Amino acid sequence: MAVPKKKVSPGRKKQRRQFYALKPEGHVVCPNCLDTRRPHRVCVCGFYDGRQVTQPKTQSTETA
Ligand SMILES: [Zn+2]
Repeated sequence: MAVPKKKVSPGRKKQRRQFYALKPEGHVVCPNCLDTRRPHRVCVCGFYDGRQVTQPKTQSTETA
């Protein structure tokens, strides 16, 4: 039966799992469509800084 040569100590186990405490960041809620978007990026609905800056992206019907 295979036996681990060294048991992982509780401290090392916690080090490995440090990222468990990280929160998902880098997303803000668009005030127009209430969807999440990257900060300082135009939302898929075309809104940025409270105004329409681009045409909203639509699914498949748009030709560009
Ligand atoms: Zn939006």
